[in-house]
Amino acid sequence: MTGSIVLFGPPGAGKGTQAEIIVEMTGKPQVSTGDMLRSAVSQGTELGLEAKGYMESGQLVPDQVIIGLIEDRLGDSDASGGVLFDGFPRTIPQAEALSKITDVSAVISIEVPDEDIVNRIVGRRMDPETGEIYHVSFKPPPPELASRLIQRKDDNEDTVRNRLAAYHEQTKPLGVWYSNRGILSAVDGTGTIQEVSQSVANAVRSL
Ligand code: AMP
Repeated sequence: MTGSIVLFGPPGAGKGTQAEIIVEMTGKPQVSTGDMLRSAVSQGTELGLEAKGYMESGQLVPDQVIIGLIEDRLGDSDASGGVLFDGFPRTIPQAEALSKITDVSAVISIEVPDEDIVNRIVGRRMDPETGEIYHVSFKPPPPELASRLIQRKDDNEDTVRNRLAAYHEQTKPLGVWYSNRGILSAVDGTGTIQEVSQSVANAVRSL
């Protein structure tokens, strides 16, 4: 498949975790706007300074900023055979802009109810050295790594509520938009990480 794949779902659905298996199966590079923005924030670039306040309060960064970032990224040579988008697009204007710059062949939607999201997010931890994502209950880190793990600044309960509100208002309608175009495959995201990976792998095989 030459086009790009979009991994779609609410915050905390496991998009970052499930991206791994899709990258393995398709060889497409993962393009996570959240990771790109966090790296810009930690480097203190102009983009990072602009994005920081939105991210910390759980709001979406303005479309024009995100679209510019994606245009630049898609110009890289490894993106020529399509990429795996994780956390992008998040609004209909972003999806419309994307459709003008690249072909989206499939959208895999990881479905998780709101009531599961808060627990998933507040228990999430990341290893800053490897980028590996753990969860205090669902994917406990090896004890020897525990002291170096960090919690994302926006992974607290207040911010999660805002992120969920932004998802419902601005992102969820995009699921219908893609479904109307006949390219959305829904996956149940409520099982164990291994179960969800199986369903994601099946969805990728059937593309
Ligand atoms: P994520 O890691 O995907 O949960 O993204 C973390 C935060 O980065 C979000 O809460 C937004 O503030 C911002 N962000 C990431 N991707 C996008 C996007 N496609 N559009 C707007 N804001 C984004």
